[in-house]
Amino acid sequence: MPFELPALPYAATALEPSIDARTMEIHHDKHHAAYVNNLNKALESAPDLASKSLNALIVDLASVPDAIRGAVRNNGGGHWNHSFFWNILGPDAGGAPTGSLASAIDSAFGSFSEFQAKFEAAGLARFGSGWVWLSVKPDKSLCICSTPNQDNPLMKGVAECTGTPVIGVDVWEHAYYLHYQNRRADYLKAIWGAISWSAAQKNYDAAIA
Ligand code: MN
Repeated sequence: MPFELPALPYAATALEPSIDARTMEIHHDKHHAAYVNNLNKALESAPDLASKSLNALIVDLASVPDAIRGAVRNNGGGHWNHSFFWNILGPDAGGAPTGSLASAIDSAFGSFSEFQAKFEAAGLARFGSGWVWLSVKPDKSLCICSTPNQDNPLMKGVAECTGTPVIGVDVWEHAYYLHYQNRRADYLKAIWGAISWSAAQKNYDAAIA
């Protein structure tokens, strides 16, 4: 099996009260695990792709055979997105960014609170399932966008916006329904308390390097 489910980098209780432990357990142990299993299953018919990194697979979906491209897009995207998501969240997180990411957010969106409002609005506007992202565009400026399903801004020719994610928030109902039920807006407000701006800064530094 080429891909494995990474362990959560903290306890399932670590993000409370922003995200409850039961949601984290089901989200990681069941949903993320299923993306990994289904990605491995899809790749069984294309052993020549087994040596590719997850990043290489999802960036260049055009090189994936037609018969499994949809499965790799959905499940490879699901594996990448969730692995990324666990790492931009953390215990003792929240607050506001500092340093160069804070300056870039201010110049792109006016202020941190204006950025938060735009990010929440983009997440709320995603009909059905998907993600909302803060990304670095090819011109190195920041943008907010949303992608459907398990697409992400790295997927060239597939995602509605292309860029390198700095943070991303899952707005599938499975990410919040146990605790927030239909209140996606409340979930999007609460998740700021779990965003690790030090992890986001590392992503930003790598993207603009
Ligand atoms: Mn999810």
